[in-house]
Parts: sequence; structure tokens; C-alpha cells
Amino acid sequence: MEITLKKTDITLRDKILKISGEDFNKCYQCGMCTSGCPVADEMDIMPNQVNMMLMLGQFEELLNSQTIWICVACFECGARCPHNIDLAKINEALREIKIRENIDLFNIWETASTGEFPTIALVASFRKFTS
Ligand code: SF4
Ligand code: SF4
Repeated sequence: MEITLKKTDITLRDKILKISGEDFNKCYQCGMCTSGCPVADEMDIMPNQVNMMLMLGQFEELLNSQTIWICVACFECGARCPHNIDLAKINEALREIKIRENIDLFNIWETASTGEFPTIALVASFRKFTS
């Protein structure tokens, strides 16, 4: 299930900033985050590239990437970043947006059958729905 943003969805940048609380516009692409990320080898978009793509407005590519699910929220990137940009929070914000816009809680089993979401995302959504 590929995400296709509506042309009117010009607030996504603000949404990511608001949910994460992190200003990705401060990134100057030093690469310290990527060099310290323990799972960068498994990602299809490197941590520093996430910020670059956010600054360029390439939201769809990010929301459809594997990187946002592979990040283990270890906070190493934020600890190494000279601007204290916490990519764990940015990846979490991207995951939240993807889940909210694509998981139909009234049709959770159909969503699960697409294989687009990791089990943990489905279980978390299911818990919210049933609690
Ligand atoms: S460490 Fe910080 S400034 Fe450097 S590339 Fe990563 S997010 Fe950008
Ligand atoms: S929080 Fe995510 S992006 Fe940052 S170093 Fe850890 S795994 Fe990599």
C-alpha cells in the first residue's frame, strides 16, 4: 500500500515538526548520525538522508521507506548530532503519520494481509482500537 499524498496536504512538514518536536531544518549534513547508527546497513535511506529529504519535501519516499521501521530508537544519532537533532523522534513521527493514514482500524485484518506493516505496528493499532 503505497502512500500518495494529496496536493492539498501542504501541512505535512508542519505535522512532522509538531509530532517530533525536532527541527530537521538545522541539519547541515555532517553525517555523524549515520556513522554512529547501529542499523544503518539495513536501511534503504541513511539517517542523514532522512533529514535531507525532509528539507527537500520528499515526504512520500520517506513514508514508503523501510528506514522508518528499521530505526530502533537507540538515540545514538541524537547524542552524536552537533545540533542535537533526534532522528529517533523524527522516525517515530513518520511512523505515526503512516499508521494513522493507512491502517483502517475497522478493517485491521485486511490491512495485515497486505504485508505492508510490521507486526508491532498492527498490534499497537489493534490495542488502541480495543482498549
Ligand atoms: S548528525 Fe545532525 S547535523 Fe549531522 S547529518 Fe545527522 S542530523 Fe544532520
Ligand atoms: S535512533 Fe534510529 S536512526 Fe538514530 S542511531 Fe538509533 S537506529 Fe539509527
